[in-house]
Amino acid sequence: MKSLWNDAEASQYSGDLLQRVYTSQLLGRDHTLVLHGGGNTSVKIREPMVTGEEEDILYVKGSGWDLETIREEGFAPVRLPHLVKLSKLDSLSDPQMMNELSTQVTRAGAPAPSVETILHAILPYKYVDHTHADAVLAVTNTADGEKHVREIFGDDVVVIPYIMPGFDLAGLCASRFARDARAATTGMVLMNHGVFSFGATARESYERMISLVTRAERFLEGRGASGVAPSGPGPVTGSPRELAALRRELSDAAGMPLVMSTHTGEKYLQFARRADVARLSQQGPATPDHVIRTKRLPMIGRDVAAYAQAYRDYFARNSAAAKEPKTMLDPAPRMALDPELGLCTLGRSAKDARIVADLYSHTIDVILAATALGGYRALPEKDIFDVEYWDLEQAKLRRAGKPPVFTGEVALITGAASGIGKACAQAFLKRGAAVVGLDIDARVANAFGTRADFLGVHCDVTSRDAVNAALDAGVNAFGGVDMLVLNAGVFPGGRRVESLTDEEWQRVTRVNVDANLALMRECHPLLKLAPGGGRVVVIGSKNVPAPGPGAAAYSASKAALTQLARVAALEWGADRIRVNVVHPNAVFDTGLWTEEVLASRAAHYGLSVDDYKTNNVLKTEVRSADVGELAAEMCGPLFAKTTGAQVPIDGGNDRVI
Ligand code: ZN
Repeated sequence: MKSLWNDAEASQYSGDLLQRVYTSQLLGRDHTLVLHGGGNTSVKIREPMVTGEEEDILYVKGSGWDLETIREEGFAPVRLPHLVKLSKLDSLSDPQMMNELSTQVTRAGAPAPSVETILHAILPYKYVDHTHADAVLAVTNTADGEKHVREIFGDDVVVIPYIMPGFDLAGLCASRFARDARAATTGMVLMNHGVFSFGATARESYERMISLVTRAERFLEGRGASGVAPSGPGPVTGSPRELAALRRELSDAAGMPLVMSTHTGEKYLQFARRADVARLSQQGPATPDHVIRTKRLPMIGRDVAAYAQAYRDYFARNSAAAKEPKTMLDPAPRMALDPELGLCTLGRSAKDARIVADLYSHTIDVILAATALGGYRALPEKDIFDVEYWDLEQAKLRRAGKPPVFTGEVALITGAASGIGKACAQAFLKRGAAVVGLDIDARVANAFGTRADFLGVHCDVTSRDAVNAALDAGVNAFGGVDMLVLNAGVFPGGRRVESLTDEEWQRVTRVNVDANLALMRECHPLLKLAPGGGRVVVIGSKNVPAPGPGAAAYSASKAALTQLARVAALEWGADRIRVNVVHPNAVFDTGLWTEEVLASRAAHYGLSVDDYKTNNVLKTEVRSADVGELAAEMCGPLFAKTTGAQVPIDGGNDRVI
């Protein structure tokens, strides 16, 4: 492991707090040190109060911030003397401790200080860095962990036996540090948890962290226990229907829809196929930080009922011995290891599923390294349970509000790169859905920047192969298709019937009707497996009830599509799939309508552009966002008992009314 310290870069960060920001980001850049909000850092600064006196402040990483991207405002300023006083108390419950921490913060609006704040306060150094480095976890999660730690570090670190994070851990660290620290001490190793380093400057503390972790890495190398996980892509073996069926079962066990992402890299397949995978994976995670987000154990294979029963037994066993009454979490796993599917990870959102995957990827590295070192041995079940059912975590669950309506669900939207399709994608994302957006325009890939809950697939919907590949990609990413928005279509220029060629008629029909039939047919088995029931919204047109001259192919194709949707509504109701149609008209904020075209059409009717845009009964402008909102609402609870409906969204059209 190399120090990423760079003098030129560092000189951009002047002052104690900004230096803290800089080296925190350096730690965050290396995902074998910290990942997804794991780890924390601090700096102690003496500064003037508004009344003129000076006070000592501990700036500590706030919750919700990631070291990789942390900024100044991500650090919570806490009064240091109070923290030191707290550390001397005989006992303090964790909720009491969190209350003390948040009421001693000196800046309104600052994030909540880390649960490990007191631990930072008691270490007598200006800068303190804390990571859950893979190499240290591999060494400490073994039967001979403490012996290895002594061999690697000698007296350079203080060793702390495992106890749960929180007030008691801070107290234990304070007393062990006072007893064991020497002049040469540069760090503190917490068994089955992670490592601390400290120093007088940001650079010193950071480089000590790098040096400590490098020593652990060298030790693993020396024992042939590093780089043991294979890398590289693996074959995709699960069919979309198989994956969607597994996700459905897992969502049912959880009692709520979950997004599932599938990872078939060589590392996951090989791990899932090991003869000893059950023994290796059925121990707890390598550090308490991972417990809450990954749930304790992956499911081996696909027997969801057996997993759920084992989880209930685990809860019953451990909650009976717990001091406080506990509320059981849902018994569904958040990871499955299957010899054919590889690693499937689940979460309430695509982001959660990704976090689980990233954390477990590191867990596999740690398990394999520890195995090569003589045997992975994680914490006993009771310790894992204490973290999973920590009163702080249970309180967090009680505080959590109602999630957005499509949380855990997946929508597939065609024509999602621009116009109405993009507006639909926006409306579904806003409601918490993961969205697979298809478009013939390759820019769909970045239609929403990079975010975990949007997968943009470049796809010509008239190509069966392209559609199947897009469905594969979508189901691999999110686990199914619960909602389908058929929006992609073509609107050819005006042509009277007597000059309409077969070619043009067929081209329009191919996109507006044939492609949608194929999509509906291919998605039907997936929609049928949707945990909350399948939903289809067809973007029709005012031209269905009120066709326009010169638009024969368009009007007829949208009418055929509408009729197709009505028949699907009849046939699929028994499969819990609702099919509805919206008929927009005169939506001008799309790529089709440039300022020029608008001006010329308005002039054609002798109207101003504004009058032309609002030329309807309500004299209102219909925007693509309005259509997107309606499409999303039609998939929500408001329309739960409606299927086969056609709803105009046109500001009122006298030919339709
Ligand atoms: Zn920690």
